[in-house]
Amino acid sequence: MPARSNASASDPSTSGERLYNFCAGPASLPVEVLEEVKEELPVYRDIGASMLEISHRSKPYDRVEESARGRIKHLLGLTDEWNVLFLQGGASMQFHQVPLNFLPSEGTAAYVDTGRWSTKAIKEAKLLGAVQVAASSKSSNFDRIPASDEWELNANASYVHITTNNTIYGTQFSTEPEVSAPLVADASSDFLSRPIDTEKYGLIYAGAQKNVGPAGVTIVLVRDDFLERRNRPLPTMLDYGTHARRRFNTPPVFAIYLVEKVMRWLEAQGGVEAIAERNDRKAALLYDRIDSSDFYQGHARPADRSKMNVTFRLPSEKQEELFCAEAEQAGLLSLAGHRSVGGVRASIYNACPMAAVEALVEFMEMFEQRHG
Ligand SMILES: *Cc1c(COP(=O)(O)O)cnc(C)c1O
Repeated sequence: MPARSNASASDPSTSGERLYNFCAGPASLPVEVLEEVKEELPVYRDIGASMLEISHRSKPYDRVEESARGRIKHLLGLTDEWNVLFLQGGASMQFHQVPLNFLPSEGTAAYVDTGRWSTKAIKEAKLLGAVQVAASSKSSNFDRIPASDEWELNANASYVHITTNNTIYGTQFSTEPEVSAPLVADASSDFLSRPIDTEKYGLIYAGAQKNVGPAGVTIVLVRDDFLERRNRPLPTMLDYGTHARRRFNTPPVFAIYLVEKVMRWLEAQGGVEAIAERNDRKAALLYDRIDSSDFYQGHARPADRSKMNVTFRLPSEKQEELFCAEAEQAGLLSLAGHRSVGGVRASIYNACPMAAVEALVEFMEMFEQRHG
């Protein structure tokens, strides 16, 4: 199903055509995946019902969930010490669940504050124990990742929490920081977009709806030795151990079923290294366009720019509004920046094709010619 390849005068909103979609989340999914789901509704293969209507303990569903789990492990090169959990409550629930399980009542955890999501994670952790904010880029509206030599880290921290990609501001850790405690990462908006050094982490969580599936499931990777550090009586549902041991209750089956398909799609793209290389090229094209004129100004400091969310400003808010409205007319959806940064945000996750970025760059050129 082709998306529109360039701007046209017809009104895309009424054409029923699939357009280029830069939404930050829930975000665009590979069209092949959506087509496949469509084919498997209302009957999945020869089971006489759809995947949404069978027991979560049945063989067909079991195969889907195990396949999703296995593919995630394989794509990231995770060893058998890693557990892959499919939880609910969004990444936001993890802000509470992580410290509930791993912040000891007598201990401390370190957090790096790189934006709104980190700030929310810090707020929840503080309800449960001592939190040290090791570094923050708040004073410059989170336009950077604080350099690790600026971090003040308590040697006794049980873990160091980072947000690997800051969806709102368009910043991203270029690599894992060197710390002695295990990293706990909110990787919601760059999960499976590039290879990671899994040895450095104790736990990684990601809401699926940015890069790997629909809303409704949060993927949590947790290593056995880190899991053993749980330190207080826990409500059954909020204990990671419950979900590592068995399928405790009904999981979000439809979301997991889609994640499994997105994992297959990612493998067909060549895996994480291949998609990372493609993500690099997409981001470079857009940042080159921003840097080649004074009309567009990037929000993030160049060294910390995100490959997933590209944020930039125009000379005035009025022009920014016009930019987004005209882009929508041209079939380029959801480019308005988050209210705390303003301007424009193009989210170019794994499923965003190069052609979408090319169309956006072309639109930026035309817009600048007319309004610059
Ligand atoms: C979107 C997002 C969240 C919030 O996810 P929910 O699933 O809506 O709770 C948290 N962290 C990051 C980095 C995000 O991009």
